[in-house]
Amino acid sequence: MILGCIADDFTGATDLANTLTRRGMHTVQTIGIPKGAAPEADAIVVALKSRTIPAAEAVAQSLDACRWLKAHGAKQIFFKYCSTFDSTDDGNIGPVADALLDELKTNFTIACPAFPENGRTIYLGHLFVGGDLLSDSSMRHHPLTPMTDANLVRVLARQSKHKTGLVPYKTVKAGAPAIAEAFAMLEQQGVRHAIVDALEDKDLENIGAASSGLPLITGGSGIAIGLPANYRVARLIPKREGIAALTKVGGPGIVLSGSCSAATLAQVERFAAAHPARSIDPEALATAPEATIASLLTWAKEQLTSGPALIYASAAPEKVAAVQAKFGREQAGSMIEHAIASIAAGLAQAGVRRFVIAGGETSGAVVSALKVEALEIGPQIAPGVPATLSYGFPRQALALKSGNFGGPDFFSQALDALQ
Ligand code: ADP
Repeated sequence: MILGCIADDFTGATDLANTLTRRGMHTVQTIGIPKGAAPEADAIVVALKSRTIPAAEAVAQSLDACRWLKAHGAKQIFFKYCSTFDSTDDGNIGPVADALLDELKTNFTIACPAFPENGRTIYLGHLFVGGDLLSDSSMRHHPLTPMTDANLVRVLARQSKHKTGLVPYKTVKAGAPAIAEAFAMLEQQGVRHAIVDALEDKDLENIGAASSGLPLITGGSGIAIGLPANYRVARLIPKREGIAALTKVGGPGIVLSGSCSAATLAQVERFAAAHPARSIDPEALATAPEATIASLLTWAKEQLTSGPALIYASAAPEKVAAVQAKFGREQAGSMIEHAIASIAAGLAQAGVRRFVIAGGETSGAVVSALKVEALEIGPQIAPGVPATLSYGFPRQALALKSGNFGGPDFFSQALDALQ
């Protein structure tokens, strides 16, 4: 292994594995720390579900993953979080990055969630989602991590015990040597986390080249664009072309959505207009959880012969707010995640092998319920979302979609891609 990655959610892990695979690194995603032998790979992405858990737990899990990756040969560690910097003032990006710096006995790292292909750019430390500042984007309504400040230097400063700084676009544009010089200067000034501006993939390639000597890199999947070239230059990996198609699993498919992000809401609407679809009623779930789950599962099984169906909890911000006011933000989230995960497990028992899952937290719950231990990465379905195939038996084809990824037809495209 060359690159050891720790991802704070499962769809984020898949997104990163997708980028590394597309740039020529043989990459395996594991669900948590592998229990058995380390998979053979250039890069291993350990997927945690640590984005919204208490900061101390996120730190402990991330450190365990870091130690495992180092013990299995990782030469560089990558802490992956969302391209919209999903977090709260308590963490978990800052506390985890602080702890990893200490663990790796290093004084400086970067924080760069830019993902230009999906419209996430950073200018003067401010994160833009498409044409909007993060704080004006739909991310301000996220059910678990509402993002109301676009100034990432400020956001990270609230989460970290260390000084945060900025590498501005002017420097980034000047290329890799100028960026590396800025890293050294910031480190001298006592800055431990530098937000790095980036507007396009070329910037990420230069930032990647400038980061070749950093023991720790933190960011979104975009920043991984520049890393494989470093390992090729160092003759650690060969030049690889193309991504092999995944083995077919066949059988019926299902779409399960627990994401309330704007892109998912449009995907749910598009798919439900042409396919059987059922929504999960949070009220019914709270009153009679087992009966509600059983009835949704029975309905889903009935649909298997007639074509793909959709079960979703996804709802518009005002509905989500009402549910959260009644049941509590975290309780509502975990109640719905549990329901979707139980339905997925029931469908797997009924022979379903192709799953399209929308939502990072939701995917985490489903993949755990399906007892998936590791994923092989296949061709990309949409930017940030590859087709994947579980290792072990039976093999399951999965598309794990982070909330705001994919166009309106994503669910149909994903079912077509998972064969
Ligand atoms: P995304 O990738 O869009 O952020 P996630 O699955 O990570 O999606 O997070 C969405 C969260 O919202 C999950 O915890 C999910 O259970 C919760 N949720 C889904 N539907 C509702 C709803 N109708 N009301 C309240 N919470 C919901």
